[in-house]
Amino acid sequence: MNPTEIKKLKALLSKPKNIVIVTHWSPDGDAIGSSLGLYNYLVKKAHKVTVITPNDYPSFLGWMKGNKKIIDFQKNESAGKKAVAKAEMIFCLDFNSLKRIDKLGEEVAGSSAVKMIIDHHLQPEDFADYMLHSVAACSTCELIYDFIHHMGDKKMLDKDIANCLYTGIMTDTGSFRFPSTTAKTHLILADLIRAGAENSEIHNRTYDDNTESRLKILGFCLNEKLTVLPEYKTAFFALTAEELDRFQYKKGDTEGVVNYALSIAGIRFAAFMVERDGIIKISFRSKGSFDVNKFSRSHFSGGGHANAAGGMSELSMKKTVAKFMALLPEYKIQLNAKK
Ligand code: 5GP
Ligand code: MN
Repeated sequence: MNPTEIKKLKALLSKPKNIVIVTHWSPDGDAIGSSLGLYNYLVKKAHKVTVITPNDYPSFLGWMKGNKKIIDFQKNESAGKKAVAKAEMIFCLDFNSLKRIDKLGEEVAGSSAVKMIIDHHLQPEDFADYMLHSVAACSTCELIYDFIHHMGDKKMLDKDIANCLYTGIMTDTGSFRFPSTTAKTHLILADLIRAGAENSEIHNRTYDDNTESRLKILGFCLNEKLTVLPEYKTAFFALTAEELDRFQYKKGDTEGVVNYALSIAGIRFAAFMVERDGIIKISFRSKGSFDVNKFSRSHFSGGGHANAAGGMSELSMKKTVAKFMALLPEYKIQLNAKK
């Protein structure tokens, strides 16, 4: 953001406004953390704020201040539409394309409110009046911190805002281990802890909130569903709807399973394919130079970041796995690259 934009935004936010915050389909820690972090900041500035998610999010994120007031558009479309219709400003957080918010995208596209994108995904669509976008940012939460700083309101950081932002930074960096983690990230974390973020508690709430079904699905995946292809430095899991049912799957139960495939020594490319709502949803992860954003955009109608992306397939599970495996020879050199 340049100084003129910052000045305009400061002026816009200097008087109470009706504000809507939307974030992406199947919200993760960064989506909920950035939305509620911004929510708590804007509420503190006396705005009337509504957070809308396109669908539900996992229960381990259900503790941040304001989360009870989130409107799930899939469950309560009329309340969501009403909030968007009244909005004078809409913040679009942690997504780069209106496709990522499903039917809510039509409401946002049709609204005359001032729109602002705050995001760190590659290749953002140009649908907003303001954009705070950086691919170098480890998370959207890092950018919310920057935004509050740009607004000259760092002194307004408090425990509630800090808890939300810490959560998103922690989850999007894989607990501060991905290459996106920088010195700046750690300086922000230090500031958040100083402002009251309950760092140790947040780790417990997020990672020690496993359901029995989640652990059983993980055990089943590791034991029976892992395919390792050393020739392509690739490993993947493929899980059918019937298998999810067998373990009484609940939302969030398969989150992070893909990382186990990537944790195998020598593996640089991992995928997790799961049959849900009649389609195959895929998570891609990589280490080093293999670009899963490109791979997913080219073959599985998705995208995201260079080392973490999502995608989908409308083929059967069997055909999706076959398509995935048939693509690997084409990438053999890249997958076997030194870096
Ligand atoms: P996940 O595998 O956890 O669903 O997603 C990994 C990353 O890719 C996240 O940052 C997520 O927001 C992004 N992502 C997931 N699915 C899609 C998609 O269909 N399109 C785009 N552009 N990004 C996605
Ligand atoms: Mn993110």
